[in-house]
Amino acid sequence: MTVYDQHGRHLRDLRISVTDRCNFRCRYCMPAEIFDQDYAFLPKEHMLTAEEIGRLARIFVSLGVRKLRITGGEPLLRKDLPEIITRLAGLNVEDISLTTNGSLLVRNAAKLKQAGLHRVTVSLDALDDDTFLYMNGGKGRVQPVLDGIDAAAAEGLTVKINMVVQKGINDEAVLPMVEYFRNKGHILRMVEYMDVGNTNGWNREHVVSTKELLQRIGERWPLEPVEPNYLGEVASRYRFLDGGGEVGFISSVTQAFCSSCTRARLSADGTLYTCLFASQGHPLQHLLRSDNRDEELAAAISSIWGNRHDQYSLERGTGKIITSAAKVEMSHIGG
Ligand code: SAM
Ligand code: SF4
Ligand code: SF4
Repeated sequence: MTVYDQHGRHLRDLRISVTDRCNFRCRYCMPAEIFDQDYAFLPKEHMLTAEEIGRLARIFVSLGVRKLRITGGEPLLRKDLPEIITRLAGLNVEDISLTTNGSLLVRNAAKLKQAGLHRVTVSLDALDDDTFLYMNGGKGRVQPVLDGIDAAAAEGLTVKINMVVQKGINDEAVLPMVEYFRNKGHILRMVEYMDVGNTNGWNREHVVSTKELLQRIGERWPLEPVEPNYLGEVASRYRFLDGGGEVGFISSVTQAFCSSCTRARLSADGTLYTCLFASQGHPLQHLLRSDNRDEELAAAISSIWGNRHDQYSLERGTGKIITSAAKVEMSHIGG
């Protein structure tokens, strides 16, 4: 079955946030002064269980979802993550991936692979501890993340690295990161700093555009564009002419890709969001925890997707939206 939204985009990907908690406090995502000891994280009883996540994912798959990504918060904080993955691996999907800050990956990589994970995206914003510690609120050094990347690769997981680039904060770290990951077989993707949520003090001046990054990287290591792997691929791909592999760019701010956005997002308490920048979600937990049959949940999800109009990034800057409007936090629904 295929479900289309109001702009003819089908539901194909599901991002599942398994926790809103994190052991890092990245300033662009969970600034420590807001996400402090008084912050009201989801109580455990409000979080979906592994079984509930598996059931919902199965229903999404029946509606056409082919790719599943686990995110958070930091998904590796969830002790039952291997069980969640095992449940997802039992579904008929093309791809099961995980986005993680990598700090706890060394000791978990084997378990994740055994559970059936295909790929991992590790977020890393610099190779020097000073910059990295500044960005993650003093919570994690670089070496454990690099070790986590190696451990995941040694288990046979495909690894990508996501780097959020902020002007004046870590743009000097771009070339060292490219140099480190070139020739390693892992694709480094540079992510434009986005105005997700309302707590990170986003300002367009802090965005380093893909155009600028392409120029800087290309001057050092000439690049050529590569065709997308599939329609709707989020990152634009470039290949090093010297055979050093590929880099990618996720240009949500300067080159919006809403027209091909097939992604739904589920928060850890089972609320469905149809856009990363949504102000409101659609709670599914009460449907899951009452006597509804799978068909009834499927009908509710189809109707939500069928009514979807979202195209925030396309409209950003057109005056149609105000970037300071109330929006869900990134740590609630994942990237
Ligand atoms: N904790 C995990 C991690 O960091 O990979 C998973 C959740 S995190 C919210 C998912 C991704 O969102 C990360 O790659 C992170 O860098 C990215 N992210 C968070 N805030 C962002 C922002 N304001 N702009 C761009 N990317 C952001
Ligand atoms: Fe945590 Fe990931 Fe957000 Fe950083 S980006 S605070 S690691 S959820
Ligand atoms: Fe999809 Fe919303 Fe991002 Fe546009 S802004 S690509 S609709 S998540």
